[in-house]
Amino acid sequence: MKKLVLICLFILTACAGPQSRYYKVDPGLAAEEARKQKEIAITDFWQDNLRVQRVAYPIKTNNWQYCGDAVVPTAGMYLANFHLFSKNLRDTTADVVGMDEHLRVAQIYQNSPAHKQGLRVGDRIIEINGTPIPSNAKAMVTATRLANEQHLTNNHVTYTIKRNGQQLNYTINPLPICNFPIFLSGKQEINAYADGEKMVVYRGLTRFFPQDENLALILSHELAHNAMRHIDALQQNAMVGGLLGATVDILASSAGVGTGGRFSQAGAQMGAMRYSQDFEREADYIGLYFMARAGYNISEAANVWRRMATLSPQGISIAKTHPTTAERFIGLEQTIAEIQSKKANNIPLTPEMTGGS
Ligand SMILES: [Zn+2]
Repeated sequence: MKKLVLICLFILTACAGPQSRYYKVDPGLAAEEARKQKEIAITDFWQDNLRVQRVAYPIKTNNWQYCGDAVVPTAGMYLANFHLFSKNLRDTTADVVGMDEHLRVAQIYQNSPAHKQGLRVGDRIIEINGTPIPSNAKAMVTATRLANEQHLTNNHVTYTIKRNGQQLNYTINPLPICNFPIFLSGKQEINAYADGEKMVVYRGLTRFFPQDENLALILSHELAHNAMRHIDALQQNAMVGGLLGATVDILASSAGVGTGGRFSQAGAQMGAMRYSQDFEREADYIGLYFMARAGYNISEAANVWRRMATLSPQGISIAKTHPTTAERFIGLEQTIAEIQSKKANNIPLTPEMTGGS
């Protein structure tokens, strides 16, 4: 080693850098390549996002009866703008996937009201019920609110759209849908969560489950958490446990999603942990019904959770505590058998409710 350093000191140029005839890159070509890579990143993200929305649509429209107050009308199309992309990508999303700052039809589902009425992908939504739609990050929420308001009074929704410079009006008789929007996170984790208002799916999960049926199982489970109001109940239960000593804010962060967090008091921990395991079982049970009611094949569902448990034990949670026990899989198999039997005997696919305890 000492010898090499000494040699380098004598022949500095030879030792300071590479010694082969490596490639030299034209800066113009490098910029062009960077642009290409950015385009691929945008296209891939968008395809994954549209897939998640498409797989979720029948789950959310066939189970609205279980979503309580969180039900809104849908035309059966996915509306979006470039605010779903990270800031550094937005300058090219219009060219690559047709998404700019304006709210546009990004996807139309087969046989949906929008499909039947002739709306098209790319149509810009200018107004709903005569009220202009803003071109910002809140456009999607605004559109949902306006459609809901008009539907309550008129029983239909009027969309004013712009297509090739032409302004057109469409009157839609919408369908009910669970109002828990799904967002695709760019993170490569194999995970998903529900926070009581929305659902978040990580891209790692969409890659891990290339088959729609498998992705549908996860989405159904997460929808079940939201529909059954597990977050609210979990926080309440944690508070009851917390009377033994812990503070509410710590509990809320533990029950909430994303960062996780730690209970400071054993009493609170026991309160929340116990319920979270029961809620997971309920989300498994209700989720399988949601999936079957949406028309998906549930026969492989237990195996999907088995794969998740082996490869990503931390994944798919509302809290960071998912049951990965043998008992869980037996419960899943039992639920699948219960649903299959109802199907075979033409009994409506209604989950057996106990009314809570
Ligand atoms: Zn769960």
